[in-house]
Amino acid sequence: VRIGIQLPDGLKKKAFEICEKFGADVILSGESCYGACDLDLSLLADVDVLYHYAHTEVVKFERVVYMPYFVDYDVEKVAERIKVLPEREIALIATVQYCYRLSELKNILESSGFTVELRKGGERVKFPGQVLGCNYSALRDCKASAVVFVGDGSFHAIGASIYSRKKVYAVNPINLDLINVDTSDFIKTRYIQVSRCVGLSKVGILVSTKLGQKRLHLALSLKKLALESGMKALIVYINEITPDKLMNLPFDFYVNTACPRVSYDDYRKFERPIITPQEFEYLLNRREEIGLDEIE
Ligand code: SF4
Repeated sequence: VRIGIQLPDGLKKKAFEICEKFGADVILSGESCYGACDLDLSLLADVDVLYHYAHTEVVKFERVVYMPYFVDYDVEKVAERIKVLPEREIALIATVQYCYRLSELKNILESSGFTVELRKGGERVKFPGQVLGCNYSALRDCKASAVVFVGDGSFHAIGASIYSRKKVYAVNPINLDLINVDTSDFIKTRYIQVSRCVGLSKVGILVSTKLGQKRLHLALSLKKLALESGMKALIVYINEITPDKLMNLPFDFYVNTACPRVSYDDYRKFERPIITPQEFEYLLNRREEIGLDEIE
């Protein structure tokens, strides 16, 4: 049996350790691996089974095994940090590497008088409380007065706040930093990006060829909107959205239907504006707020 291994950048340094467990006939993917949306299909074509590490299933695919990677942390200490918050009705969310201990955290907090919501979202996520940079469905119909995100960085916490319109705190389970999340800079930046597109007329609508990010129907409807608004528009298929790939294309700006993090995190790398589908609709006066881009 020939095995393929796909690792995210953070785990690539452990490639020997991981691959050697599977014996001799192993091929390591050297491609990007940003999420389970990003399967290496060329490698899959040449192996019997592809082990995709650190993410849970987003796209069902035969011969692909998802291997979530859980990071150990002290759940009691995280609970102690949360206990200082003024709110007593909270919802818990986390990224995949930390969400495996959320039910334990919920029990500890409930025994201290908290009311805790811990819900599994839609099909794109597997565990209760799990969120992705493109999916916050674990907070759908959230009744709690605040949300606590367990994880590192502020991106998911900002997304959770925009999605839920609730107060959000972020607790880092490793260094136990507790942040009161503020979305104002993020929102301001996004409105500035949209304002850079005002008056521009040639739009490239980017569609990812990565299976779990591909939103062709959305792109087609956005192209229709663009044409109705008197713009020139083309749909562009692309695997990895990088500045050099966009450099020679004849567009004034881009609408990105692939991973929302390309628009939100990487926009500074691109010479021309790169906005989300919702921001494009806002630009065309089809909605009142720039919203948040999610993949269902
Ligand atoms: S589309 Fe982006 S945010 Fe969503 S799972 Fe893939 S890499 Fe993560």
